[in-house]
Order: sequence, then structure tokens, then C-alpha cells
Amino acid sequence: MIKLKDLYFKAFISEAEIDAAVQKMADQIADDLGDDIPVFVGILNGSFMFVSDFVKKYPKPCEVTFIKLASYEGIKSSEDIQRLIGLTQDLTDRQVVILEDIIDSGNTLEEVHRIFENEKVADLHIATLFYKPEAYKKDYKLHYVGIEIPNKFIVGYGLDYEGLGRDLPSVYQLKTTQHMTNLVLFGPPGAGKGTQAEFLKEQYNLVHISTGDVFRFNIKNETALGMLAKSFIDKGELVPDQVTIDMLNAEVEKNSDANGFIFDGFPRTNAQAKALDQLMDSKDSQISAMIALEVDDEVLVKRLLERGKTSGRADDADEAVIRNRLKVYYDETAVVADFYRTQDKFIGVNGEGSIEDITERLCKVIDTL
Ligand code: AMP
Repeated sequence: MIKLKDLYFKAFISEAEIDAAVQKMADQIADDLGDDIPVFVGILNGSFMFVSDFVKKYPKPCEVTFIKLASYEGIKSSEDIQRLIGLTQDLTDRQVVILEDIIDSGNTLEEVHRIFENEKVADLHIATLFYKPEAYKKDYKLHYVGIEIPNKFIVGYGLDYEGLGRDLPSVYQLKTTQHMTNLVLFGPPGAGKGTQAEFLKEQYNLVHISTGDVFRFNIKNETALGMLAKSFIDKGELVPDQVTIDMLNAEVEKNSDANGFIFDGFPRTNAQAKALDQLMDSKDSQISAMIALEVDDEVLVKRLLERGKTSGRADDADEAVIRNRLKVYYDETAVVADFYRTQDKFIGVNGEGSIEDITERLCKVIDTL
């Protein structure tokens, strides 16, 4: 991911993909033009990188020139009245190939055709590296297209956002969701996830989603989801993945304008972790880190029994259920840490000591993200 001025962009088309597309275009055009020496006309500014790579790959002699598109000052809409400057060469009877970096609405192309109307060229071919079929509103034939792309704003490889990004060797796409901080707060039952999430959500302006709390809310309100979950929760077992994943997705959707999320009690299985990655991906976002609160088992049992005296939670009241929840954590949930370790996103934090000390440790870690 990169940031240009105020916007974030994600990797979209790699150097290797661009290279292959440019090579294919060069070979195809060379085949089609036979022994004629063509004049390649790049449209500045965006096409400079494409034209440079293209002519290096073109296997036969050729000429290269550039024209520049100028907008009349003060008019900045996509319907700009534009004109091309710089066409000084006599192109009579020549094979001319326009090299464009990108064709979207086709306005520039219309102007190109207008300019070339009076030139007595042998043939005018249009070649564009990128093409947005959904945005194209004109009828002009595009003879050569490198890569078709969806109608999203892109930068890199000659294309800019407010002057920046032209120098990037690969192409990036505007993220539809701008930057979010998404934390997985991890640890066994009783580690203090809920307590700490209350402080962190205020400090970082994040939405806290505790799957346990959502289940308990549903149980209290006797919803179908609550009834289904209750049988598992009362035994200290996990609610089935698909039920939990669907519920989590719905909670995230309810907060579509959030700055980010604290996931507490989710994911608890690798299937849930994968589903969470997919969900973040669909939001053009990602999990920033998994922060695991590390607490000794006997401290956990003591904390949960203590909490059980006031929480009203059946699963906190019975030591056998508590021990089963810990067993389930080690048997089924602890592996999720490896999922984030392999993504280099796992951070362990000492979860013993005073609530304030632990909050401070967590903030120190989050501030480095
Ligand atoms: P918690 O409040 O996080 O301790 O969760 C209480 C109970 O809700 C757990 O023991 C599970 O039965 C259920 N639960 C909460 N989150 C999940 C999850 N991500 N996957 C499956 N079950 C869950």
C-alpha cells in the first residue's frame, strides 16, 4: 500500500504484468505493420514511461515523437475542452501509431482524431496500454489494448494523482476504503480482552466487536441466533464457524463508516481468521495486528471465578466449564496465533498486572503500527 497526498492506493498491476503486456503489443504491432517504418506518437504526460518501454521492445526501426494535451486554464472537469500541442512533423503517407497510457472516457482520443483529420497519414492506429471499457463512451476503434481494467482510479507507470506517482514502476489502485486500524485482541478467556478493548476503543476511536457480547445480547433477547448459540456457550464450546462468521460480517456491515475495529473473541479458529481476511479484503482493508494478552492459566481461572460472582455469566460460575473453555482455547483457538505469525502480524503483550499498566503496554504497541 502507498499514500499519495491524502489518499491510499493498493498494489494492482505488477511490473512483470506490465512488461508482458507491453511486449505483446510491440510484437503484435510489428507483425501488423510489416516493413513500414512507423511513427509512434506518445500522448504526454502519462505515456512517457509506456512509450519508452514500448520502443525498446519494438523489434524494427521506428520513429518516436510526442504530443501534449493541454486543458484550457480554469476548466477542470472530465468534459474539459482540450487541445493537443507539439505536432510539428509532416506525417503525410506515414503509418502513425498513437501510444496512450490509458483510455477511459475517450475524450482525449476524440481530440487526437480531430487533430489527425487534416493530416494525410496512411493509417492512424490507436494503441493503449490500459483501457477502461466501462468508462469508454466513444466509437473510435482501439486497435491495440494492453490490459483492460475496471473503472477505478489508478496511479503509477506514468499516471499521476495530483502530480505524484508517475515515477512508480507498477500500477496502484485507489482504495475505496481509506486507512483503517483493525486489531485482533487475542488471548484466553479471562485475559482481559473486553476490559482493555473498552479503553482502546476510546483512545483510538475504533468500533469494538465482541462476539461473546453479541451472542449474549441475542440470548437475552431470545433471538433464533441466541437460542442456537446458547447450547454451545453453556458448555464452554465454540459456536459453529459459519454462524459466528455470518454474525461478525453483519456487525462489521452495521459500522461501515468506522475508522477501524477491535475484534475481541474473534477469530477463534483458522476458518474464522480466513473469513476475516476476506471480509477486510472486500473493504479494501486488512488486519493491522493481532495483539495477544499473555496470562498464566491459574491467574485466568481465579479471574474468571471472581468475575462469575458479579457477571451473571453461567460460563464464569462453574470451574469445570471455565477449565473446558481454557482447554478449547488451547486445542482449537491458540493455533490462530500462527495464522497471524506467518503474516508477521502477531504481537504478544504481558497481560498480568494492573489494568492501567496493561493498557499502557497495549498503547505502546499500537502506536508503533
Ligand atoms: P467470550 O465472551 O469471548 O468469552 O465468549 C463466550 C462464548 O461465546 C465462548 O465460550 C463461545 O461459546 C462463544 N463464542 C464467542 N466468540 C466466538 C467465536 N469467535 N467462535 C465461536 N464461538 C464463540
